[in-house]
Amino acid sequence: MNIYLNANENPFNTVDRNLINELLFSFDYNRYPDLDYKKLKSELSRITNRKVENIIPTNGSDELIQLILLAYSKENENILSHIPTFSEYEKISNYLGRNFIGVKPKKNLKVDKDVFIQKIKEYNPKIIFLCSPNNPTGELLKEEFIEEVLNTSNNMVIVDEAYIEFSGKTNIKLLNKYENLIIMRTLSKAYGLASLRVGYGLTSEKNIDFLNEYRMPYNISGISQFIATETLKLIDTKKYVENILNEKQRIIKELKKINIEYLNSESNFILIKTINNNGVLKALKENKIFVRTFNDEYLVSYIRFNIGNREENDKLLSILKDVVGNGWSYNK
Ligand code: PMP
Repeated sequence: MNIYLNANENPFNTVDRNLINELLFSFDYNRYPDLDYKKLKSELSRITNRKVENIIPTNGSDELIQLILLAYSKENENILSHIPTFSEYEKISNYLGRNFIGVKPKKNLKVDKDVFIQKIKEYNPKIIFLCSPNNPTGELLKEEFIEEVLNTSNNMVIVDEAYIEFSGKTNIKLLNKYENLIIMRTLSKAYGLASLRVGYGLTSEKNIDFLNEYRMPYNISGISQFIATETLKLIDTKKYVENILNEKQRIIKELKKINIEYLNSESNFILIKTINNNGVLKALKENKIFVRTFNDEYLVSYIRFNIGNREENDKLLSILKDVVGNGWSYNK
């Protein structure tokens, strides 16, 4: 059986399949979906405590990144983010002809905050992407730093909170203070609905109206809107998050025992470094365990895996122990 720990998904099925079976039977497949996402937005409003006027649902938060770049920047204009981070900010900037600038991290791969503020002043970027907790390092950015960024730039500042449920510390309240802030969220991670492709942005009504000018009509399918809405009504993410965080602590304890270097993560994934990643990767591959590897200069010697269910985590740990125990230990 394949074990997927490479895409930071929730390992648990959060959808009530019996309910969905029944509801899908009577679904109006011949009709266009609700253009305004009223039911979905009303549930998103409930879980975020923001008004429906302050919410824009998108086809995954990937689509929101593109929408923001289209709406708030033009060709050759500067876009700033910290690196290493979620690759789509750079990738979409590049294919839209924007000038992406990645601020290099400190030695420990954390965001170099002083340099970041300097770069805002130097390049006056049209859009700044902050990712918190950051994928793939797991770093949670402090509210003071986010406010410093917002106070340094008059242009758009985006905080990607794709993994925020695992850290419990949202920046939503900054929306009351800063008109140039957009918070990006997704149902793909803690909510376990990656396949439905539902993300959303939270920002001022004025920004929502502006973003809507660039949005394709019906950008989320009727089925996705429907299943997401029904699942949000029923789901309690707390039990999934708690389970994942407990498992994370258990994994970290075991990593320590076998001296595997790891970065502290405020999310549902961990970045590790072993003395011989190739040996580890070969063993994982043989056992059909999929993890994330990287080509860029900062991450080439790291492996990222997300927390799976107990059985999956046990399998991963047994392989790590096996390989490390067979001669790759840091102690040897
Ligand atoms: N932001 C971050 C930081 C991510 O890691 C991901 C998915 N890997 C996304 C956004 C996109 O998520 P989705 O399009 O599924 O909402």
